Amino acid sequence: MNTEVSSTMQTALVTGGSRGIGAAIAVELAARGFRVVINYRNNTEAAQTVANTIEQAGGQALLIKADVSKPDDVNTMFAQLDRDVGHLDVLVCNAGVTRDTLLGASEPDDFDTVFATNIHGVVNCCRQAAKRMASARCGVIITISSVAAQRPGRGQSNYAASKGAIEAFTKALAVELAPRGIRVNAVAPGVILTEMSADVRAMAAEEVTKKILLKRPGNAQEVAKVVGFLCSDEASYVTAQVWNVDGGFKVE
Ligand code: NAP
Repeated sequence: MNTEVSSTMQTALVTGGSRGIGAAIAVELAARGFRVVINYRNNTEAAQTVANTIEQAGGQALLIKADVSKPDDVNTMFAQLDRDVGHLDVLVCNAGVTRDTLLGASEPDDFDTVFATNIHGVVNCCRQAAKRMASARCGVIITISSVAAQRPGRGQSNYAASKGAIEAFTKALAVELAPRGIRVNAVAPGVILTEMSADVRAMAAEEVTKKILLKRPGNAQEVAKVVGFLCSDEASYVTAQVWNVDGGFKVE
C-alpha cells in the first residue's frame, strides 16, 4: 500500500469500498485525483485488490476495516483517518446489506440487521464527517439509496424502509449543513450487476429487465460516474437531491 500522504491531495472515504458499487466509486474518485480511504467490513482481500488497482494507476489508497453499524468502530476509523491523513473532503456512504423476505415470514432480526448497516451506518459516519467538514467549512457527502425507496419490490419492506430513511436523512442533513458550505446528495441505483443483486437477477432476470426502459441492468461504473460528478465542483450548485441511476426502472 502507498503510505506516503500528500498534504495537498483531497481525501474521499468510501464505505463498503471493497466490492461492487463501492469499489467502482473508489476507483472513479481515485481517477479524479482523490486519495481514497477504502472502508470494508470483512473482505480484506477484496479491499486490497481495489487498493492495488488504484495504486497501479498512480493513485493513493488506504484501507480501514470497520463495521459502520457499530459507533465504536466508526469512531476508531475516523480517529485513524485524522491521524494518518488529517482531513476529509468527501464521504460516500455506500455500505449496505439486504435481507429480502416477505414481512409475515421475517424475523425482527431481519429488520434490525438491515437498519443497523443501511441507516445507522450512514448516520454514524455522517455524524463524524459533519463535525470535521463543518470546521473546515467545506465538504461533500453522498449517500447511496436505491430505487426500492420509491418503487419497492415484493419482500423488500425492510430494505425499502431503510433506503426511504436514507433519502429523508440526506435531505435533512443537506438543510443542516448548507450554511457550512457542505453539499449532501443521494444516489439511487436501480438493478446493478453486483453480488447484492445476483439472487434477484438469477430468479427473475427477464421479469426484472422488462421493467427497465433501457432493457438491461446497469454496471457499477455507471453509478460511480454519477457519484464522481456529484463529488466534483461541476456539481457545485447541487444539494439535497436524489439522483436515480436506474435505466428508467418501473417508469412505464
Ligand atoms: P455488495 O456487492 O454486496 O457490496 C457491499 C459492500 O458493503 C462490501 O464492500 C461490504 O464489505 C460492505 N459492507 C456491508 N456491510 C458493511 C458494514 N456493516 N460495514 C462496512 N462495510 C460493509 O453491494 P453493492 O451491490 O455494491 O451495493 C452497494 C450499495 O448500493 C448498497 O448501499 C446497496 O444497498 C446499494 N444498491 C445496490 C443495488 C444493486 O443492484 N446492486 C441497487 C440499489 C442500491 P465486505 O466486502 O467486507 O463484505
